[in-house]
Amino acid sequence: MRVITSAHGFSDALEAERAVGRRVGLVPTMGALHAGHRSLVTRAAAECDVVAVTVFVNPLQFDKADDLARYPRDLDGDVLQAAEAGATIVFAPPVHEMYPGFPAPVATSVHVEAVGDVLEGASRPGHFDGVATVVAKLCSLAGRSRVYFGEKDFQQLAVVRRMATDLSLPVDIVACPTVREDDGLALSSRNVRLGPPDRAAAVALSRALDAGAALVEVGQRDPALVGAAMEAVLQATDGVSPDYAVAVDAATLASPAVLAGAVRLLVAATVGPVRLIDNVGLVVVGADELHSPTATSAVGVS
Ligand code: AMP
Repeated sequence: MRVITSAHGFSDALEAERAVGRRVGLVPTMGALHAGHRSLVTRAAAECDVVAVTVFVNPLQFDKADDLARYPRDLDGDVLQAAEAGATIVFAPPVHEMYPGFPAPVATSVHVEAVGDVLEGASRPGHFDGVATVVAKLCSLAGRSRVYFGEKDFQQLAVVRRMATDLSLPVDIVACPTVREDDGLALSSRNVRLGPPDRAAAVALSRALDAGAALVEVGQRDPALVGAAMEAVLQATDGVSPDYAVAVDAATLASPAVLAGAVRLLVAATVGPVRLIDNVGLVVVGADELHSPTATSAVGVS
């Protein structure tokens, strides 16, 4: 395992791999790796000849100073986990390597309109500018590669896809399914900050998604009613403060008049000291009527 801390060193290392014909896979993370991150590395290792994991707690994407200060960090553990899952390079730059002059404001940043402005973008101003900026920089350093992201952060995936297309970055963005605990809670680095009562309450997010999906499955096609049902599950759980619960078009993240085609259910809530997000995908076929499942209606869940 090579641990690289300089931006040029990282860029040179991946250039050298490509020069001998190896396909490069990149897994951007903020560290505190868990089985969700490892699933991305394993997939990258199966599809590429060399896998680099980046570990960088990006200050630009935090809208709250205490969230940044409390973000878990464990580089030694990350290096071990990345190696076990099949990576051979870890890029762990100090902040000044990515943002010379930090904390002076970064003059050049990336803003992705529309898909980056709603939901998380509305609740956490500047968050996706930080995400898009750091991912653009990492992709630019890495060069031609396949870059792996989790559907756990579905809106982030949409933002990164749009950014990569609009900026003609030489990368393929690859989406990987969400890894969950046995009770349904999506794995997240922030989960370590949940005490036992909060950990029990946090399962409300995946339960809310299950309730929303079940409603669509029996024929509900009104996004407002599906959202309200999910919100009710969150509201009913002590210790959970809902932020949003929506059923949207999976491509645009906009709310359609009627749920049809690729749909995404997304929820966000604060549980104890932590803000959590989760989502699930549905494919709705036979979407022409509300409240009336027909023989041709079908719902697939991903
Ligand atoms: P983070 O370190 O939280 O920025 O996440 C780094 C990458 O891992 C992102 O692409 C996330 O979507 C992905 N990821 C985080 N948690 C999970 C999970 N439970 N399942 C799958 N991917 C995940």
